[in-house]
Amino acid sequence: MKKIIFASPTAVVGVTMFIYILFIGFRFLTVYFPSSTEKLRIAQESIPSASGERVDNLWAYYLINSENPLSRDFTVGLDYVQGSFMLDERCAGYARDMIAAARADGVELTVVSAYRSSQKQQENLDNYIERLKREGYNSSDARRLAEKEIALPYMSEHNAGLALDILTPDWWETHDDVTADFENTEQFRWLSENAHKYGFIMRYPKEYESVTKIIYEPWHYRFVGVYYAGRIKESGLPLEYFYKTNF
Ligand SMILES: [Zn+2]
Repeated sequence: MKKIIFASPTAVVGVTMFIYILFIGFRFLTVYFPSSTEKLRIAQESIPSASGERVDNLWAYYLINSENPLSRDFTVGLDYVQGSFMLDERCAGYARDMIAAARADGVELTVVSAYRSSQKQQENLDNYIERLKREGYNSSDARRLAEKEIALPYMSEHNAGLALDILTPDWWETHDDVTADFENTEQFRWLSENAHKYGFIMRYPKEYESVTKIIYEPWHYRFVGVYYAGRIKESGLPLEYFYKTNF
């Protein structure tokens, strides 16, 4: 009978060593050069879980986006924040305190949008679609473009009374639209340093447009409570990721 030799002992040792070196090399690469998914996993694992007694305003800690719309029968009690602009009455006081604190530091925050009903949201969307059509887009392109910039009814944080759009008092003298230029203002710098103390986060960061599905909006602030606003700011993660890790 013919004897089959699969491998000599030296070859076995050689192959084992080779696999081992490959394995170590791979570990080295993933530890020292983590992929973006790996970085995210590490960031998420480093978030300690909430200690219940320190969490304030838990009612405001939830997701509203295209995958998590408000219910059709959503209603909210409102209170004034600035001029005719209103928020959920449970967080309007936090917004008023934030605006007053900024003023005490010599910075005027001008609210340009706050609560909008879902009906108003639909009207805004329809008006924008009509405007695009007048500019020459066909119906389906106009709708597609508009829906990229304006959330559908029930899917905007403004419909929940939890979001404020803030600009400078003289914004409209130099701009005819709300743009990312807002990040170059003293108002933005003040908000970046202080908004979390009043329970607000800049909700749509530049680096996470693919996660939030919303363009970078340095002017849009969302109330999530003081505890979570601080934690989210520290983590640098968008609410979508942070929320999944912390609930
Ligand atoms: Zn907004």
